[in-house]
Amino acid sequence: MEPFRIKMTEPIKTLSAGEREIALKKAHHNVFLLDGEDCPIDLLTDSGTGAMSSQQWAALMLGDESYAGSRSWKKFKNTIQEITGMANVFPTHQGRAAESLLAMIKVKPGDVIPNNSHFDTTRANMQFSGAKTLDLLTEEGLNPASELPFKGNMDLQKLEACIREYGDRIPFCMITVTNNTGGGQPVSMENIKAVKRILDDAGIPLVIDACRFAENSYFIKQREAGYEDKSLMEIAQEIFGCADAATMSLKKDGLANIGGFFVCNNDEWAEAFQNLLILKEGFPTYGGLAGRDLEVTAVGLREALEYDYQVYRHASIEYLMSKLDKAGIPMMRPAGGHAVFLDARAFMDHIPALEYPGIALVNAIYLVGGVRTVELGTVMFGHFDEQGKEIPAPLELVRMAFPRRVYTQSHFDHLVEVILEVWENRKKYSGYRIIKQAKYLRHFTCHFEPLGN
Ligand SMILES: *Cc1c(COP(=O)(O)O)cnc(C)c1O
Repeated sequence: MEPFRIKMTEPIKTLSAGEREIALKKAHHNVFLLDGEDCPIDLLTDSGTGAMSSQQWAALMLGDESYAGSRSWKKFKNTIQEITGMANVFPTHQGRAAESLLAMIKVKPGDVIPNNSHFDTTRANMQFSGAKTLDLLTEEGLNPASELPFKGNMDLQKLEACIREYGDRIPFCMITVTNNTGGGQPVSMENIKAVKRILDDAGIPLVIDACRFAENSYFIKQREAGYEDKSLMEIAQEIFGCADAATMSLKKDGLANIGGFFVCNNDEWAEAFQNLLILKEGFPTYGGLAGRDLEVTAVGLREALEYDYQVYRHASIEYLMSKLDKAGIPMMRPAGGHAVFLDARAFMDHIPALEYPGIALVNAIYLVGGVRTVELGTVMFGHFDEQGKEIPAPLELVRMAFPRRVYTQSHFDHLVEVILEVWENRKKYSGYRIIKQAKYLRHFTCHFEPLGN
C-alpha cells in the first residue's frame, strides 16, 4: 500500500468522451498542446510533478530568504555533502543549468564527452560548447526485450576504445543513474566502479548525472549481490564516492518542483564554476533558488532515500507492468525506475511507421481515458535524409512517466482499463499526418491530422 496518507487533495476534472475529443481537436491532435486541466491523469513527465510531504510543506515555511549565507543554504549544503561526500556544493535553478555551467568551464570545441546515454539537455549543452557526445551503452541496454537487471550499464570495451581514440580530448566522462534515455534502467555498482578504474588509469574525471540516484540505489539493493543489507543512503554514498563531480535535477529524486545542483571535489573546478554561477544563476548560497526551495529539497533528498518510499514507487510500476503483461501488451523490459514504455510499433502494427503509430497510441489513450502520455518515436526522433525523405526512428515508444507520490492504485487501475480498451480495439485507430511543423524539436508544437479509417 502507499506509505502515506493524503492530507491535502487537488481535484481533477473528469471530462466526458465528447469533451476529450473536442479538447484534442483544439490541440491539433498534439497532447503537448492540451491544457493540463484537461488531463485527469498526466503522465507526460516525472520531472517537477511530484507531491511534497507534510515535512516538506512545513520546511517551506522555514525558508530563510537571506541573500547570502542563509540557514536554508546550510541545510541544503549539509544534506548534499552527507549524501555525496563532496566538498563543493552549488545550487542551480534546474539540472540543465548545472550542465550548462559545467560545459562552459570544462568543455571546448573538439572535445569528446562519453556517457552511458546522454539525456537530451546534457547532450545539447555539451554540443553547444563544441564537444562531440558519445553514448556507450551496453548492447543489452539497446534491446527492449532483454530482461537483464542493469541495462543502464556502460560498455567497458567501448569506453576503453573511446579513450584510445580520443585520449586527451576527453575532459571528463559522465554516467547517468538511472539511464533516463534508455528507459530508466539502472547502472550497477560494479559497473560504476569498473568505469572509475578505467578512467583513473587514463587520468579522466568521472561526473555523475545523478537525477535518479535514489531509484538507482534501490535497484542496486534489490538486484546486486552484497548490497541487500545496506541502506539506500550507504549505497548512494558509495556511488558518489566513485565520482569526481555530479550534476543533478532536483525535480526528480529531490522530490521538489524545481531545483538542481552541481558538486565537485576539485577546488579549481569549484572556483571556475562559482564565478560563472554568480554571472548566470545567482549568489553561490542560493544559485537561482529561493531559500524555501533549498529547505524543501534538503528534506526531499532524504525522503527519496527512504526504503518504504522506494518500495512503493517500484511496486506501483511493477503492478502496472504485470497487469499489462498478462494481456500480452508489448512493452520495454524490465520495469524501469520512473516510467513504463509501450512498444507502439508492435501495439499498432497495422499503422505504417511514417503514419506515426506512437501518436496514434498516445491519442487513443487520451481519448479513451483522459490519460496524457508521450511519444518517443518518429515524431520526436525521426529525421530527414538529403533528399528530404523522412526516416523513421529505430524505436517507436510511448512513455508513461510517473509523478512521485501523486497517483494511487485506483488511478493505476484506471490506466490499466484504458490501455486494455485501446488494445482490444486497436485496429480501429488510424495513423496521422503532420500538417504544420517547426524545423527543430517539432514534437512540441506540430499539428496533426487523423488519416481516417
Ligand atoms: C531531467 C534530467 C536532466 C535535466 O534536468 P532539468 O532540471 O530538467 O534541467 C538531466 N539529466 C537527466 C538524466 C534528467 O532526467
